[in-house]
Amino acid sequence: MEQVIYEYSSKGKKGASLPAKPVSEDTVKNYIPETLLRQTDLNLPEVSEPEVVRHFTNLSTMNHHVDKGFYPLGSCTMKYNPKINDKIAGLPGFANIHPLQPESSVQGALEMMYDLEKMLCALTGMHAATLQPAAGSHGELTGVMIIKKYHEAKGEKRKYILIPDSAHGTNPSSAYSANFETLALKSNEKGCIDINDLREKMTRDVAGLMITNPNTLGLFEEEVEQIVDIVHQHDGIVYMDGANLNALLGITCPGDLGFDITHINLHKTFSTPHGGGGPGSGPITVVKKLEKYLPEPRVIKSNNSFKLSSDFPDSIGKVIGLYGNFGVMVRAYVYVTMLGIRGLAEVSRNAILNANYLRVRLADKFAIPYNRACMHEFVASGDNHRELGIKTLDIAKRLLDFGLHAPTVYFPLIVREAIMVEPTETESKQTLDKFIEAMEQIDREAHENPDILHDAPHTTPVRRLDELKANKDLNICWVK
Ligand SMILES: *Cc1c(COP(=O)(O)O)cnc(C)c1O
Repeated sequence: MEQVIYEYSSKGKKGASLPAKPVSEDTVKNYIPETLLRQTDLNLPEVSEPEVVRHFTNLSTMNHHVDKGFYPLGSCTMKYNPKINDKIAGLPGFANIHPLQPESSVQGALEMMYDLEKMLCALTGMHAATLQPAAGSHGELTGVMIIKKYHEAKGEKRKYILIPDSAHGTNPSSAYSANFETLALKSNEKGCIDINDLREKMTRDVAGLMITNPNTLGLFEEEVEQIVDIVHQHDGIVYMDGANLNALLGITCPGDLGFDITHINLHKTFSTPHGGGGPGSGPITVVKKLEKYLPEPRVIKSNNSFKLSSDFPDSIGKVIGLYGNFGVMVRAYVYVTMLGIRGLAEVSRNAILNANYLRVRLADKFAIPYNRACMHEFVASGDNHRELGIKTLDIAKRLLDFGLHAPTVYFPLIVREAIMVEPTETESKQTLDKFIEAMEQIDREAHENPDILHDAPHTTPVRRLDELKANKDLNICWVK
């Protein structure tokens, strides 16, 4: 087990030689009031350079990450993130600018944002964009606020947002945060929205519908055009949760399917490392009739220069402090520019191919409730292993022993013992085969040696955690 870095510390040990202080203590006292001066030394670890390097290298391999191994965490699109993105986002012209600098000195940054908005509109088939939201869920909230404003501008106060029972939890929570109530739509036996249920529930009290397409089962909503029409007949707004955009790039887009608003998880589809809760970005794009409600300030171009304009009287206002998560935008810009529309279409085709390969190969041993051609992910189930006393959680924990991250488990809620697999396009057939072999071995163990599954994982730095206790009995400790 790796120690806390303070445990390597001993008095006087040094990792770097610093130049002599450029100003004397006396000079400092002339400029900084006594009350603000530190009375005791700062408590920093005193360690050598190799100790620092080894400490952080060891820590970085204790957890699983995309650069270490396969990460088929469904719905999260844990693809490999090209290092060139980081390199370019780290260029001084991007990394060292300040959000409050005069606009004339950040023209390049504003132009990048302006162009990225245009690219995202083209890729989603929409008219206008905002880059402000800091996550997919934040994009949802922004979108739902726009839906609210759209109806209010017409003097209507609508109460409900419709959401399918297969939806990601952020959809109802975004609707609720914007003071809507939610109504759940049933899924039919094919795993898609039940049109009759939609017909019944879609009234003039409903402000809009939020759906994920492909849905969280990895299935394309086959009747999407009809769904959109039904909502539009009642002047509702149709929001597409775009977290699964990795399946659609260059093939079809929310605009062509009739949606009015969509969000894009830049950190998922457009490759920013996002395991461990790192920065995200969830721009939304909208159709023309909703453009005036977008958050301000917006980047505009006039006389060949770029500026931030707040001259949008119908805007819902700001949804973030400054520009948004700029570094994530740069990475997305690099990724989209490098691949171009043909490359992006390849991304989606390969993501779909990889998912279907795994689905067909795993179907021998694992239950797959909606087993037909899927998009970029599919949902298997541990249901037929339950009679052997094995839960999906046991399967997920055992996978860690093979150096593989587990798929998403117990989501979506409409599949019992769900195992949601999203391989992404960046994995080779050899890697996919390794995953299949591990799953087949787990299936054998379930029949022959179930205890090895109950006790898993065996090889990770920590064994099975008490997740309930971790949630109920939060204990955050700081090193003094
Ligand atoms: C990831 C995800 C979200 C939320 O996006 P964040 O960027 O994590 O806030 C919403 N819906 C679906 C289907 C997702 O997979």
